[in-house]
Amino acid sequence: VAVDLGGTNLKVALFNLKYKLIEKQVFNTRQFRTKGVLIKAITNSVRNMLGHNGIGIRQVLGVGLGLPGPIDAQKGIVHFFPNIPGWKEVPLKQLLEKSLCLPVFLDNDANLMALAEYELGAARGSRFAICITLGTGVGGGLVFGGNLSRGKSNATGEIGHMPINEEGPRCNCGGTACLETYIGNDRIAAYARKLFKRDISLEELSRLAKRGDTRAIKVWSDVGRHLGAALVSVVNLLNLDCIVIGGGVANAGKVLFERIKEVIAQQAMRVQAEDVRVFRARLGSDAGLLGAAISVRRKN
Ligand SMILES: [Zn+2]
Repeated sequence: VAVDLGGTNLKVALFNLKYKLIEKQVFNTRQFRTKGVLIKAITNSVRNMLGHNGIGIRQVLGVGLGLPGPIDAQKGIVHFFPNIPGWKEVPLKQLLEKSLCLPVFLDNDANLMALAEYELGAARGSRFAICITLGTGVGGGLVFGGNLSRGKSNATGEIGHMPINEEGPRCNCGGTACLETYIGNDRIAAYARKLFKRDISLEELSRLAKRGDTRAIKVWSDVGRHLGAALVSVVNLLNLDCIVIGGGVANAGKVLFERIKEVIAQQAMRVQAEDVRVFRARLGSDAGLLGAAISVRRKN
């Protein structure tokens, strides 16, 4: 069983052991005001799906959860969620195991997306990969030597909070000139508004760039330049063989990806630049669910 809790939706899904989706249920996250209500909803959804697919609880390996915030994956504790109030040091693993009578594995959504792309998606066959999600926030998960690299407090991968300048905009994290303050969705939209003198969606910006609009191309080229600058540091430090980029902004297409590759080729050290390949994420919006399912299989 895989569960993906996002700021907008709660998804609960049942996979077979080949990671084929059997059933998925989607709920609005906002209806879960307390953790008790959320735990009940997950429990009911799981029982309901097992019931009408004729699957007994003994046939289930476990439940993997992808969560939008810092998690102690080992102890199964949610430290907090930046965008969902009311969660602080919640022993969610323990609470859910009691309610579901199944082993439960927690991780943050960026780690699970990375795990999914590594096992089944664009990073398949690589050993040293970073998977980046571009959205309102910019997150990342790092697979190093074939395993998720977690760091001391399960907090690796925060590429969105790498400064790309010494001076620049203040970031919500307390830092200055973080990558996210240049290429978070809102920041791209604000930059485009300046160039176009009107509100313009990122979807429209992508369409315009594909048609050759020079202003739209400039926006994506600058996004690629900023992201590329951060990635030069990342590949020089880590000597990765694969970079996977997903999230809505990854739909910007060729202009963005070409620019990123160009910056890495020009600015990273030769060996590191030659070793790394850049791909678009392949698994789409269910990557988090797949990663949660995989985490049950891997028991981490
Ligand atoms: Zn930051």
